[in-house]
Amino acid sequence: MFVKKYLLSMNRRTKIEIGTFIAVTQAFVFLLVSHFHISEITYMSFIPIICTAFFFGEMAGLFFGAAVATCFSPLWIDLSGYGSPAWAIRAFGYATVGLVVGNLSNALRNYLRFEENIRITDISTGLPNRQAFCDKLAELSAAQISGHFAIVVIVISNTKILSETFGNDVTKSIFNQFKDKCAELTKKMNAEIETYSISSDQIAFFFRKSNEDDLETKEKFEDSLTSVAKKNFLHKGFFIHADSRLGIYRFSDFSETNSGELPLRYAEKAADTAVKQMKDLVVYGPSNLAQGAKHSKASDILGRIDLAIRSRWMFLVYQPKIDMATGKINSVEALIRWNDPDMGFVPPGLFIPQAEQSTLIENITDFVIKQAILQLKLWQRSGIFVNIAVNVSTYNLLQPNFVNKVLNLLKEKKLPPECLEIEVTESALITDFQHILDGLNRFHDANIKIALDDFGTGYSSFQYLQRLPIDYLKIDQSFVRNLGTNRESKEIVKAIVDLAHTIDVKTIAEGVETLSDYEYLNSVKCDIGQGYFMAKPLTSNNFISWYSENNGIYTYSR
Ligand code: C2E
Ligand code: CA
Ligand code: CA
Repeated sequence: MFVKKYLLSMNRRTKIEIGTFIAVTQAFVFLLVSHFHISEITYMSFIPIICTAFFFGEMAGLFFGAAVATCFSPLWIDLSGYGSPAWAIRAFGYATVGLVVGNLSNALRNYLRFEENIRITDISTGLPNRQAFCDKLAELSAAQISGHFAIVVIVISNTKILSETFGNDVTKSIFNQFKDKCAELTKKMNAEIETYSISSDQIAFFFRKSNEDDLETKEKFEDSLTSVAKKNFLHKGFFIHADSRLGIYRFSDFSETNSGELPLRYAEKAADTAVKQMKDLVVYGPSNLAQGAKHSKASDILGRIDLAIRSRWMFLVYQPKIDMATGKINSVEALIRWNDPDMGFVPPGLFIPQAEQSTLIENITDFVIKQAILQLKLWQRSGIFVNIAVNVSTYNLLQPNFVNKVLNLLKEKKLPPECLEIEVTESALITDFQHILDGLNRFHDANIKIALDDFGTGYSSFQYLQRLPIDYLKIDQSFVRNLGTNRESKEIVKAIVDLAHTIDVKTIAEGVETLSDYEYLNSVKCDIGQGYFMAKPLTSNNFISWYSENNGIYTYSR
């Protein structure tokens, strides 16, 4: 990092500093040689020669080496004088060291330049990329530059279709035409403009002006931009339409709210809103930030999931499940919680469905299962033997190595597979029944119990139920919640319990909130109950206290 900084962007001050260091070292060596009359000391001159060559290149190294040799010639008493073969060999050695080190430094410099270029350039369009934009904003922010700025992000929704039709270079062509058109626009406005390709379907412009535009000029600028975006682009003789939506973020200083890459993210949010609301253009300014921040909740969520897992902002809570006939605390359901330092509490109902639409659910389930297994081990050490149920998504079940991964984790902690249960929602079955069934069979064969969650809300036919290797039907809360008020709910719950028992499957009622719910469920022989009436989801420590208070057998007072 240090070397890279010095090799690629040495400013005048650094050059003077390094030059001074070299001169002082060289003068010191010269003094030593002249004082002690030991010519070998001149070998110390390799340090300044190497430094010169390294920082200033091969020619500087060569000439400095030769110059040092020339300066020292009167002092080289061990050699037979200036111009002798021995002298020439040493002088040649000095110059060669300068040349070779300079050559290596030039090669290193070229490599670093190439690497830096790749880091800040979008290869497919040849334009500076998002990293370059972020670097630029960070630099301006550090220098607390003020002026009048606008970041324009243009999202082109149909890049995929255009690439399939016209080839991959179509984006390059559109982005570069956008760049030229916007540059023309700014000429009239007397502003500076920089263009960045921030993703495969997003181009960003950074406009900078010294004076602030009045409202009319601002509106004119926005109109011109939208009309540029609406015009056709020419590519290989074809007129093509780029389906563009624009987001603009205007600001006038790099204060705390506008530091680093934040202004770019605000402009992206504005563009995101334009796409969602199907508007041509959405403009944000610092006054919209509150609105922007609210909007960020949904869109930032996916981007923060990994960070939240790594930073331990996500953790598990455990809700007991009780054997209704005996009161035995037979297992717990692990439920995820996310307490974010910036966004506050993010409910699982918000981020799980989003994560399920992406591969991020794999990271979440991995984290949950690892934590749950670890917790199980810790509880066992304190004498608490309960099973743990984790929620598993369709995506997880479709991964062929998922079961092996889970079994290996259990094996590592020397826990039998029976300790773990999985809960799969009924709606998961709609996706790809055969593959889900294969996944469930693998769990069943491995002795891991399976519960069909939210039962009654999906569309499982009895024929499907018969084919599923399930151990529990988990009756959805919506039926349980209405037990006190709705006679039909009572009938449905009883019917589900009876049906489950006929096919040799146990039932779990979730959302048990009152004593009468509990008693009714017990009377219709529902096997297991879970709900706020018995216990809310508890942190691990609270669960230990609750378990100990109940001595492992749940009893309630009327
Ligand atoms: P779920 O699997 O149906 O979990 C039961 C939800 O009902 C939990 O909400 C729980 O706190 C809540 N609950 C339990 N007893 C009662 C009660 O008596 N009354 C009421 N009103 N609610 C009760 P939570 O924790 O907010 O989870 C919501 C959903 O998020 C879960 O529904 C599950 O689908 C999903 N989820 C939670 N944790 C995970 C996880 O680790 N992985 C996956 N894939 N999904 C999870
Ligand atoms: Ca569940
Ligand atoms: Ca449920």
